[in-house]
Amino acid sequence: MEFASGQKKESVRLQPYNPEWANIGELVKKDMQSVFLQTAIDIRHIGSTAVPGLKARPIIDIAVAVRDFKNIPQFYGTLDELGYHHKPESDSENRIFLYSQKSKFNIYVHIVIHGKTLWNSYVAFCDCLKKDKEVRRKYEELKESLASRYTFDRRAYSSGKSEFVRRVLRTKCDIKERSCGAVVWRMRGGRRHYIIIKNRSGHNGFPKGHMEYGESEEETAEREILEETSLKVTLDTSFRSEYRYLVDGYIHKSTLYFLANYSEGTFRPQKGEVYGIWLLPYEEAYEQLDYEQDRRVLRLAEKRLAHDEAEKKR
Ligand code: ATP
Repeated sequence: MEFASGQKKESVRLQPYNPEWANIGELVKKDMQSVFLQTAIDIRHIGSTAVPGLKARPIIDIAVAVRDFKNIPQFYGTLDELGYHHKPESDSENRIFLYSQKSKFNIYVHIVIHGKTLWNSYVAFCDCLKKDKEVRRKYEELKESLASRYTFDRRAYSSGKSEFVRRVLRTKCDIKERSCGAVVWRMRGGRRHYIIIKNRSGHNGFPKGHMEYGESEEETAEREILEETSLKVTLDTSFRSEYRYLVDGYIHKSTLYFLANYSEGTFRPQKGEVYGIWLLPYEEAYEQLDYEQDRRVLRLAEKRLAHDEAEKKR
C-alpha cells in the first residue's frame, strides 16, 4: 500500500524467530561502536528481535546509551555515510532516532540517556523476555492477537502492547534511578531564605536531577543547581537527606539532598525544565512544597542551619 507521499504503509506481520536478526544486531552494534567510540557507554540489541525464540516484526532495534545529547549531532554525517539516517521528526525529548535500510530488515537506532527511564526500561524488559519463558509466551500470544486485529494499524498494535510492557516492568523488573540536588539557601534581611522551584511535572520542590554516568553525587547536585537555577553554590555535604518514591508504578527512585549556600548571583529558571523559582523565608517555602518528604527535608535543613547559627553565636 502506498501513501500519497510515496511512503510505503507497513503492515503488522509477525515472523518466526530468525537467528539472522542476532547477526545483523551484532553488525549494527559494531558500526555504532566504530562511530561513537567512548561516547557510547553501552550498546544493546533490544526489542523482540533480540529475544531468541520470539516471533517479531523483523525490525532490528539497537539502543545506544550516552551520557547526554550535547555532542550527538556531530556524528550525523559519519552515520549517514554508513547508512544510518537521522529522522528528527521521530526524535523525542528522551531519544534520538536513526533508521537504516542497509539490510533486508529495517534497522532502528535509538540513542538514549544512560540510567534514565527509557534506557532502563528497554534493557529490563528485554532481559525479562529472555529470562522468563512464561512472560515470553504471554507476550507472543498478545502480539499475535494484536497483529491479526490491527494488521494495518501499527499505532493500535503498539499501544495494545504497552499495558503488557508496563505490567511486566512493574511486577518483574527492579528499575532503580537516582537523583541528587540540594536545599539551596541564603541570608536575606537577617533571615534564612530557601530556593523553591516548580519543575516540569508541575510540583514544587528543590533543584535536583538525574546522576549522569560517571558523576559523583556532589557533581550532579552542583551541575543540576547551576542548570536549573543558574546559581553557583557552595555545597555542604555534611548534610545528607535522602528519600525514595515510586514513579509511574515501577521506577524505584531515590533522591539525595545536600545543603547549599550562595551569597551572590541572580537565579533564572532553566528553559523548558523549570517553570518558576522563588526565594522564600522558611515558613513560606514550607507552605509551597507539595510532598511531605520534601517538607521533612526542609525541616531538617532549617533545624541544622539554626543549630549552626546558634553555635556560631556562642
Ligand atoms: P529529575 O529532576 O530527578 O531528573 P524528573 O523531573 O524526571 O526527575 P521527578 O521529580 O522524580 O521527575 O517526578 C516524577 C514523578 O514523581 C512526578 O509525577 C512527581 O510528581 C512524582 N514525585 C516527585 N517527587 C515525589 C515525592 N517526593 N513523592 C512522591 N512522588 C513524587
